[in-house]
Amino acid sequence: MKYLFFLLWFPYVLHAQNEVPSAERIRQHVNYLASDRMKGRGTGSREQEKAVKYIEKQFKKMGLSPRGTDGYRQPFMAKVRRVVVPDSVRKSANVLGFLNNQAPYTIIIGAHFDHLGMGRQGSSKAPQPEGQIHNGADDNASGVAGLLELARYFTQNSRTEPFNFLFIAFGAEELGLQGSRYFVENPTLALENIHFMLNMDMIGRYNSERGVGIGGYGTSDAWPQVFKDVTGDVKFFTDRAGSGGSDHGSFYAKKIPVLFFHTGGHDDYHTPTDDPEKLNAEAEAGILSLEIKLIENAMELPKLIFTEVK
Ligand SMILES: [Zn+2]
Repeated sequence: MKYLFFLLWFPYVLHAQNEVPSAERIRQHVNYLASDRMKGRGTGSREQEKAVKYIEKQFKKMGLSPRGTDGYRQPFMAKVRRVVVPDSVRKSANVLGFLNNQAPYTIIIGAHFDHLGMGRQGSSKAPQPEGQIHNGADDNASGVAGLLELARYFTQNSRTEPFNFLFIAFGAEELGLQGSRYFVENPTLALENIHFMLNMDMIGRYNSERGVGIGGYGTSDAWPQVFKDVTGDVKFFTDRAGSGGSDHGSFYAKKIPVLFFHTGGHDDYHTPTDDPEKLNAEAEAGILSLEIKLIENAMELPKLIFTEVK
């Protein structure tokens, strides 16, 4: 009997394993994006271009349609302001993949892919940052891995959701949210048709005492209903703030409800030691499963109404 039960469930288990967030794939993405040969994905660098190509390839493989202004890309010029450098204006790009479910409204999932490069663009906490590789495994290869895993889930789960999805990897976040700001000023999809925006920035250092922080709880009166009875393998807490710290702030400024996932600061933050082997990929997979539950609950509701956080 037990054997029969197993056989009946076997195809389901096989199928489910393919779409559910996997620690193994998270590790692969982070190991690639935050390896030394990516030299910290600095804005304007050759390695930034490599990261863009990697994300484009993944989007294509999953069957997302291009939603940039040049295929998947939305190129823009970024400016280094925190330090004085001769090449202060640098090329960057956002990478945008669209899952068209023929729905009236769209959910935006975002994560920035850039980091501090070789320490020549400011905001490093290292005493002598210049020439050191700032790998940015947690900040924010972890978020990009999350973005790719969510894209994988919603494209492979053989269900047509009642919302479309726009997946965006932002450039030049570390220079002051420049990619997300460029997007909201030059949107490739009408901003009034966005259900909400979910941002991931540093989700790889889960600490079971703290739990994962979820910001943006005050940005729509509907969030309490979305969170009702939701539990996961990871502990979490909510915070009402809709702006501050990362790309969701650009969407909040345009009166779009947001959620922001973050596992907290640490000693390696913005230093050359934010390395891939320090990631907790199992917990990150748990965080992504929690996000999926919340997104699925939010898809039961009509378009969310924005609330300003006082
Ligand atoms: Zn970041």
